[in-house]
Amino acid sequence: ETFDDFKFNRQILNAITDAGYEQPTPIQQKAIPPISNGQDVMGIAQTGTGKTAAYVLPIIMKLKYAQGENPRALIIAPTRELALQIEENVRTFATYTDLRVVVLYGGIGPKTQIENINKGVDIIVATPGRFMDVYLAGHIVTKGLQILVLDEADKMMDMGFMPQLNRILEVVPRKRQNLLFSATMSDKVHQLSANFLEHPTVVEV
Ligand code: AMP
Repeated sequence: ETFDDFKFNRQILNAITDAGYEQPTPIQQKAIPPISNGQDVMGIAQTGTGKTAAYVLPIIMKLKYAQGENPRALIIAPTRELALQIEENVRTFATYTDLRVVVLYGGIGPKTQIENINKGVDIIVATPGRFMDVYLAGHIVTKGLQILVLDEADKMMDMGFMPQLNRILEVVPRKRQNLLFSATMSDKVHQLSANFLEHPTVVEV
């Protein structure tokens, strides 16, 4: 399999080439088609498997490479480090598109982050607490969100983020595509997936 087997356009394929990726990893081969088709997906994959590109690439395609009026994809991650890594992936693969990404995380003041959101954003990458803070302060319009991703869901459960995630679920549109990635399949992740995913396609590597 090659990246040409997916329905990506030149803008993504050129960025993939720039990144030096020659062929899709197993999680990318398994997850990209159902995500592209609009299904909810639960991916069981460790860090290092290429799981980030497995959802970032089809999200960029689904957003049609173009800016929108309001944010359309929200990616939630447990830590600032992971949020920054995901943001970097989005930036890399969106290089030849007009899509805008903003990252939100705690531990620093929210001023610059809010300024970035106010400039206009298509894809938000955020830790749960800071997302809710910025949302409650009135800076995030959620009505246009089409895709919600929970990355490292097992770690989010270990860190006690279930209440924050449930609050986020209350403020996003009911009709949306959901993607959940986790290194392991614990009872709590199972519970979260039951709350969060609709008839998911499960992909595992
Ligand atoms: P991740 O599991 O998303 O943290 O990715 C782990 C590392 O693999 C990152 O440095 C990615 O840039 C890299 N990577 C992801 N997909 C591919 C690919 N198809 N070919 C080569 N490297 C990749």
